[in-house]
Amino acid sequence: MPTYPRPIASKLPNVGTTIFTVMSRLAQEHNAINLSQGFPDFDCAKALRDLVTKYINSGVNQYPPMAGIPRLRERIAEKVESLYGAKYDSENEVTVTPGATYAIFTAVTALVQPGDEVILFEPAYDSYAPSVEVNGGVPVYVQLRYPDYSIDWQQVGRAITPKTRMIIINTPNNPTASVFSGEDMRMLESILRGTDVVVVSDEVYEHIVFDGHRHQSVARFPGLAERSFVVSSFGKTYHVTGWKMGHVLAPKELMAEFRKVHQFNVFVANGPLQYALAEFMENRDAYLSLATFYQRKRDFFLEGVKASRFKPLPSRGTFFQNLAYDAISDERDTDLAIRLTKERRIASIPVSVFYREPPDHKVLRFCFAKSEETLAKGAEILCKI
Ligand code: PMP
Ligand code: GLN
Repeated sequence: MPTYPRPIASKLPNVGTTIFTVMSRLAQEHNAINLSQGFPDFDCAKALRDLVTKYINSGVNQYPPMAGIPRLRERIAEKVESLYGAKYDSENEVTVTPGATYAIFTAVTALVQPGDEVILFEPAYDSYAPSVEVNGGVPVYVQLRYPDYSIDWQQVGRAITPKTRMIIINTPNNPTASVFSGEDMRMLESILRGTDVVVVSDEVYEHIVFDGHRHQSVARFPGLAERSFVVSSFGKTYHVTGWKMGHVLAPKELMAEFRKVHQFNVFVANGPLQYALAEFMENRDAYLSLATFYQRKRDFFLEGVKASRFKPLPSRGTFFQNLAYDAISDERDTDLAIRLTKERRIASIPVSVFYREPPDHKVLRFCFAKSEETLAKGAEILCKI
């Protein structure tokens, strides 16, 4: 192939390969325990795999309806109503998507015009800023307060200008493992009252909230629900991150704009998987038991690293545990994460990569969506560092 002969005016000049790809690749190269990229090292339920086979063999292999099959949209609307008390019309207000990343990107693309400001919290999940920038939007950052990653709502209030089109929130939060309280949601609701700011609420870890707390979905708060896209992911809920299946809910006016983009971006999400998921969703226990399932893993990992020199930060939700290493090294977290992968064979994610200007916080993120065997091996290594 000859080289492309002209300079390219990149729409994302500062974007490289994601940290998840970088660290997972490095882990593989060095045969390290991979607690970096967030995905389970165990399989999904056999019943779910059997359903996929059943539906593929039953011949539902052509394009489903653009917004998703009605049966699945109905199950999603029912679930959201029973958990969060919000009624969404499955015909006009629920769309099945190829993953949550896609849903967030499409919501931003549908609503954000060049020059519009979008408020993001830092540290920010890595897909948010590129989604905004590729659409000509301008990210405006509000810092979460280290080390508890709480929100300064006055600062959020000050960040809102006449150009603010959107705010992207994420609870339970990746990478901080913090969760919004009901009070956080009420603050957001009151700050946005009277504005036309749209909320994109990334709730992919909605079923993974620990210690008896409940997930604060924007759907619970009418003043937020009326202006929000609520995004979730089957990948996290059913241990199938590779399926890239998710969903989004929004009032019909917002959803109509979403679908204008969606129908030309992908048209529709994978069909047979939708049939399988719709049937599997009838078993409510599969998602209602997820918090207990992951809390046990969190506690197993915490017990394992108790004797180490790492200091755990609170993990209130998600499947991530952050460990501070102030007592161990002065190195930057990016250097340490690479060195530990190569020399100690344990891979993690340096949290500073989720900031534009890396702060001097000494924190590594570890994924505990792993078998106890993997977690025990990982913890044993960490105890020797
Ligand atoms: N948002 C957050 C906060 C995530 O952690 C993830 C998972 N990697 C996603 C979105 C993406 O989910 P999906 O794989 O369904 O696109
Ligand atoms: N969300 C996952 C994580 O935080 C990774 C997803 C991805 O690789 N893009 O680790």
